[in-house]
Amino acid sequence: MHRKVRTPTIILGTTGFCSGVESAISKVENLTKAYKNVYTLDAILHNEAEMGRLRSLGVKEVKEDDSNEIIVLPAHGATESEINALQKRFKKIVDVTCPFVLRTENLIKMLKENGYKIVIVGEKHHRETRVLSSIAEDKLLLVVSNTSELETLENEVFPKVALVSQSTISKDLVMKVSEFFLRHSFEFRFFDTICPETVKRQNEANDIAKRVDCVIVVGGKNSSNTRRLVEIASSVNKNTYFVEDAFELNFNELSKCASIGILSGTSTPPYIIKEIIDKLNHLPLI
Ligand code: SF4
Repeated sequence: MHRKVRTPTIILGTTGFCSGVESAISKVENLTKAYKNVYTLDAILHNEAEMGRLRSLGVKEVKEDDSNEIIVLPAHGATESEINALQKRFKKIVDVTCPFVLRTENLIKMLKENGYKIVIVGEKHHRETRVLSSIAEDKLLLVVSNTSELETLENEVFPKVALVSQSTISKDLVMKVSEFFLRHSFEFRFFDTICPETVKRQNEANDIAKRVDCVIVVGGKNSSNTRRLVEIASSVNKNTYFVEDAFELNFNELSKCASIGILSGTSTPPYIIKEIIDKLNHLPLI
């Protein structure tokens, strides 16, 4: 007798690449048609499967002593000293910095000229935060990754402070740090530099996670914006699973869920989402 299979209801958030990553990939792919090897400063995106595909086209992450025809700077920017060093080793440098990040870089330059001390809310090791800090130079007041770092400043009042943030940081953290400097400066300027595409995904994470039995967040384990989605989803739904691809799905747990939300980081290729949906559509419920 043929057993009837009841598959889970899937609620899909915004998935696939953000505009910045999509544009960077397309520029790099075009360059591989003209150059045997295209070097990149750091990985062009945080997804192993997609990086593997790009490597097969001749894309290589640059190592210390590499030199060649062409190198591509990442979507989240490069410091001036990195660019100067690369100019000595590569004939051509292609900059694919995302327009949202460029806007923050330009804001910092303008704020420096206008005498502001700059606070950057971001993860200290993250490329974008490092690049923004290097542009702020001696005008950098501090980089804040956690509100506990503000405790030592409780008795300080600063004359002119401006706040920007890493594009993929949590809006909640940015608002808390802004409130602090609103109370601890004579003049305070706030610029919302969180990328609207990541805000949309963060809002969806909160909304979808509340409505489903379990949530799958798909993305690279080293992707900052994906980790943020995991934090948000798991804060409202304890059945949140963080996977890089369909092979990491936990079918035992997922088969207990009648409704499943799918979210993805901005470096996750659409074909991985499709593979996951295909697998879930053949998942019998317990
Ligand atoms: S997450 Fe936003 S800021 Fe970062 S590359 Fe994508 S579109 Fe640009």
